[in-house]
Amino acid sequence: MIPLSEAMALGRVLLKPKAMFLTDGEGSGCALGMALTAVGVKIEKPSFIEEPTIQWPWLKKSCERPCSCGGSYCSYAQAITHIFDDHVMKSYWELWTLDQLIDWIKSVEPAEEPKRRKKNGHPSNASLATVESEAR
Ligand SMILES: [Zn+2]
Repeated sequence: MIPLSEAMALGRVLLKPKAMFLTDGEGSGCALGMALTAVGVKIEKPSFIEEPTIQWPWLKKSCERPCSCGGSYCSYAQAITHIFDDHVMKSYWELWTLDQLIDWIKSVEPAEEPKRRKKNGHPSNASLATVESEAR
């Protein structure tokens, strides 16, 4: 599985940003939906927060929100959803860009596997490997 931050960076061009749903089935969705779309996961329950944690189990761990909303502890998945829904999509008080969100994810996600860096930066079509649906 590629890191969440990378999947999100890939998926942001596949879905239009939309709050509250992993995907609305019409080409829009949230940051986690973008990531799932990028790795080729079929999103069956669009408003089910567990879908991304099946792919990236570390999302279930608890963290502190990286924004200034207050220090309530929540899971990484909830924190990402909150940042996306409340700060990227609508910014009453604290504006985040999707880039900032991805950068934050980069800073907190576990290093899962040694990075296979493509030095020439040419995206080959070989990278969407088969996704094994492995339950936790
Ligand atoms: Zn917040």
